[in-house]
Amino acid sequence: MSDIIKLLPDSVANQIAAGEVVQRPSSVVKELVENSIDAGASNIQVVVKDAGKTSIQVIDNGCGMSPMDARMAFERHATSKITEAKDLFAIQTLGFRGEALASIAAVAEVKLRTKRIEDELGTAIDIAASEITMQEATVCANGTNFTIRNLFFNVPARRKFLKVNNTELKHIINEFQRVALTHPEIEFSLNHNNVDIYHLPQSNFRQRICNVFGKTINQHLVPINADTSIVKISGFIGKPEAAKKTFGEQFFFVNGRFIKHPYLHKAVLKAYDQLLPNETLPSYFIYFNVDPETIDINIHPTKTEVKFEDEQSIYQILLASLRESLGKFNIAPSLDFTIDTSIDIPVARKDGEIKQPVIDINPFYNPFDNEKTGGYSSPRMSQRDIDNSQNWDKLYSGFEQSGFTTNRDDDVEAAPVDRFVSANTSENSTINTLQLKNKYILTPVKSGLMVIDQKRAHERILFEQFMGMVYHEQSFTQQSLFPEVVEFTVPEIQCIKEIGDDIRAFGFDFEVNNDSEVVIKGYPSDSSTLNVGELFKDIVHTCMDDTANDIKLEKREKIAIQMAKSAAVPYGKSLTHEEMRNLVDHLFACEMPNFTPSGKSIISILTMDEIEKRL
Ligand code: ADP
Ligand code: MG
Repeated sequence: MSDIIKLLPDSVANQIAAGEVVQRPSSVVKELVENSIDAGASNIQVVVKDAGKTSIQVIDNGCGMSPMDARMAFERHATSKITEAKDLFAIQTLGFRGEALASIAAVAEVKLRTKRIEDELGTAIDIAASEITMQEATVCANGTNFTIRNLFFNVPARRKFLKVNNTELKHIINEFQRVALTHPEIEFSLNHNNVDIYHLPQSNFRQRICNVFGKTINQHLVPINADTSIVKISGFIGKPEAAKKTFGEQFFFVNGRFIKHPYLHKAVLKAYDQLLPNETLPSYFIYFNVDPETIDINIHPTKTEVKFEDEQSIYQILLASLRESLGKFNIAPSLDFTIDTSIDIPVARKDGEIKQPVIDINPFYNPFDNEKTGGYSSPRMSQRDIDNSQNWDKLYSGFEQSGFTTNRDDDVEAAPVDRFVSANTSENSTINTLQLKNKYILTPVKSGLMVIDQKRAHERILFEQFMGMVYHEQSFTQQSLFPEVVEFTVPEIQCIKEIGDDIRAFGFDFEVNNDSEVVIKGYPSDSSTLNVGELFKDIVHTCMDDTANDIKLEKREKIAIQMAKSAAVPYGKSLTHEEMRNLVDHLFACEMPNFTPSGKSIISILTMDEIEKRL
């Protein structure tokens, strides 16, 4: 039998390598723009058609290439950026592997026009699927102009794998933002289907952040600075009250390169500990400068992961400088945000006087009078709710045999809920719910003491209600007398366009204006007590956040979850007995009373065993 091992032809090897470097149109944008930066350009224009699926063009005014280099650039491992292995340890440029152009040319049709300032004529090269189809001298501008057409035309499986245009465009915008934020001294523009998405003039870092994310971010930026022998840190962090519920404004850069760094992200979260509203993330734009020899940027082909030599020290330095900046901000007299005093969860303090907890008991509460509604928007019972109220039965079946008896000796056939009424008092002062710290509802059950998280319970109830309304197309719109105008960033507007119909299904009535703001003309009639603009923003942020939520949810579910979170009764709200009863009734009328729609547990039972062991 003859030998069977063969070397792969270059075109095949390049196509395989391309799989690593070129995952989608945004990877092409990233590689080309980084090359332009390495070429010393001061102006870089990105022009895409159909989210990069039809064409991606990057035009720069950088150093250009000689005819020979223009040809060489497409060879694998062809790079002008390193010549010996030791250069790898002192990399200052964004590219160095010499793989990008070879990879791109293996899976697309590429046109290159390039000219150095000292040359009379430039070079034109056309290449497709690694085959040069044309090379000639040409008249063209100084700098380099790449056009990439029909990405993955020869790899149908990958082309099919591309997502809808809005998603691919979002990836392009993300990559564009990352490079634009690293190089405010470079003028950038991004144009999609003949619409200018960004035009960013040369500026300083702070102005660049504002030009990318909208001018309102300016008032929320706090500078951060640290200068040590190991690392120099600079940049801006967002004030706690500007924190958002989703990823999108979290950026680390190392030596001019965007990186992801979960460990350092933890340092940021730690610095903000206790300062952030629940489930929000602070914005940050943090630039690290380190000796290139102390980092390893070669661990991932797309180079967003970086290994620092002395990670722990950098963590500590970052944490200290974040705390310093936040501290300065917190003691500053111009505290320009209002603290929401309605949320007042008492915190035990060592030096303070300890008060006995006050439990809110209404001795006149009548458990049989169960149709009163409470102060917060109380859920309505539907036929399905009533059907599902047997959940109570499921949970508590066998109660009577448990030896845990009630004192009621009347012969009234108790409604399911009333069977767990606690044991020790006469009828009129029967207590079956207590509120603890304005956060939990306590109620005795067969096996012990049930603790219900009030906010989570309400979230579950509202979620099922909203989904029911959307499912039955029964949402109602309340028209606003004064339409509210809310400003959004470009990626946010993209998202709004994508999910517009889903948002409308909940009863919102709105228009997108000038690709920068949304005019809310009507809102779901159930949400009248909420800040409608904030609610709309929260919805958009949740829907944009693909990373935070591993569970793949339908857009409408995400929207319902967010609406339920925003509308749920907050911690710190004292509830009347009727309200508690109502909440508990409706919770057990839900299809899934045990967990919030985002998977947090709502109920916990402290068992009799546990209680007895403690006494
Ligand atoms: P790398 O960036 O890792 O060196 P690439 O495949 O991205 O590899 O590019 C190969 C080479 O082509 C670069 O090293 C550079 O010399 C040249 N090149 C690419 N893009 C440009 C550009 N826009 N301007 C000038 N030279 C470029
Ligand atoms: Mg490169």
